[in-house]
Order: sequence, then structure tokens, then C-alpha cells
Amino acid sequence: MFRLGAHVSIGGGIHKAVEREEETGGNCGQIFVGSPRGWKVNQPDEDEVKRFKRLSEEKDIRPWVVHGTYLINLATPKKELGKKSLGAVQSEINATKKLGIPFYTFHPGAHTGAGKDNGIRKVASRLSRLEIPEGVKVLLENTAGKGTTVGKTFSELSDMIELSDHGYGKLGVCLDTCHMYSAGYDFSTSNHLEELLGRLEEEIGIKNIHFLHLNDSKYSYASEKDEHEHIGLGEIGDRPFELFINHKNLRNKPMVLETPVDEKGFSWNIEKLKRMRR
Ligand SMILES: [Zn+2]
Ligand SMILES: [Zn+2]
Repeated sequence: MFRLGAHVSIGGGIHKAVEREEETGGNCGQIFVGSPRGWKVNQPDEDEVKRFKRLSEEKDIRPWVVHGTYLINLATPKKELGKKSLGAVQSEINATKKLGIPFYTFHPGAHTGAGKDNGIRKVASRLSRLEIPEGVKVLLENTAGKGTTVGKTFSELSDMIELSDHGYGKLGVCLDTCHMYSAGYDFSTSNHLEELLGRLEEEIGIKNIHFLHLNDSKYSYASEKDEHEHIGLGEIGDRPFELFINHKNLRNKPMVLETPVDEKGFSWNIEKLKRMRR
């Protein structure tokens, strides 16, 4: 089954996300559980949880993934920011669990000059301190590699996971196509995609990729810039997406869009991808 949806707002209550998802034509989805650029996490109350779960079941919209706030930086050399970030991640994971959502994804962060290895070790040791409840997988999202961010390469992601006490039992990866492209991963042809998936299998293991973010890129290949574009209208173009969403090793993974919120909307992208699906 083609599980494809979009990142939708929880404005007006978490259950509203389910209605919005249905309106876009999606059958899985992603939400924030607080402000994307703030530290505040909303812990849903029992009623909200019930409504969200019931509606998701009724409309068969699943799985959901919670995206962490952009302020999180588990790679920072600064103690205070590290502590605050870890607290936010834990609190968002707790909200994810309450909602019965199986996945939580976030950007690992930036070492801000302390060095890549240092950043990777910091992420791993902070991850080890998380309490990850049964039924929730914590996913590290690959990054475009802008500035001093860590998690640009498959090997950086696997290092963070393998150096942490949780390992792949509780942790995994969420792959973003825009970030991959900007980081210099090529999937423009069938051969390039095979090569990329070969590296992915070797360095992370394709079974450890639990969610996919489908976004085209406003900026060129290997630019390290992170700005999303509508599917096919950016630098990536249509053909790579067609290859990507139909590949036998990827086609059964849930996929969500984080394309620009403008007059085209998510439904334009969802319809387009559905037409590409074989
Ligand atoms: Zn993200
Ligand atoms: Zn993403």
C-alpha cells in the first residue's frame, strides 16, 4: 500500500491534524507537538489523545510521525543548550508515546566549531540518556550539511546511533530527499539510485530507515542548502522521484511531504506522486 501524506498543523487541537490530512488526500502524516521554533511542548490530554486515535483509525491514516522542534541541538558543546535540548526531546518523545504514534524524528544539531567527531559523540551520549518507551522509535533525520550540522552522511548517522547505548533497537533514520540531494547523494538515474541504496544498506541498513521525507530542492546538487520545493519543480525534477517512490526497497516505507505551504498545497504534490506510482 502506498502510504503517503504530509506535514500538517495541529492548530485547533491534535485531532484537527487528522482532518487536514484527509483533506490533502494523505493516508499517513507528520505533526509537531509544540511550536517548531520554540521550546514549549504540548502534552495532549486524555480527550485529545482519544479523539486523535479514534479519528486516525476511522480514516485509516497511519503511521504518524512527530517532528521535533528545530531548536534542538544534541551536538552542541554548550552544556546548557545540550540539557535544554535533551529535555525537549524527552518531552516530545513522551507526547509521541501518549498519542500512540510509533515514530519521532529530529535533526541531530550542529557542533558550532567543536569538530564533527565531537558533535557526533555528543549526540550519541545524549541519546543514551533518553528514556525511550516501548512502541516508539526515535529517528535521526539526515541533514543537508549546512554550516557545522552533523548527520549529513549515512556514516555520520550510523556513528551517532551505534555509539549510543540504544543502538538500532530503539533508534533509526528518517531520510529526506531534499537533504540527501543537497548533501551530494545522487539518485537521478536508476544506476545512481542503486548505488546510493547500496551505500545505505552497507552503512545504515535499509531496514533501519523507517520514514521518508519527499521534498524537491530549491538549490542545486551538493549545495548543502536546505530549502524545499514542490515535487518536480525544483532542482531534483520528476524522474528521480518516480524512481525513488517505486523502488522495491523503499516503496513500502511511509512517506510525507514537507513542500512549501502555498496555493499549490500538499494535495497537488500528493496527486502528482500518486500518478507516478506504479
Ligand atoms: Zn526535518
Ligand atoms: Zn525533512
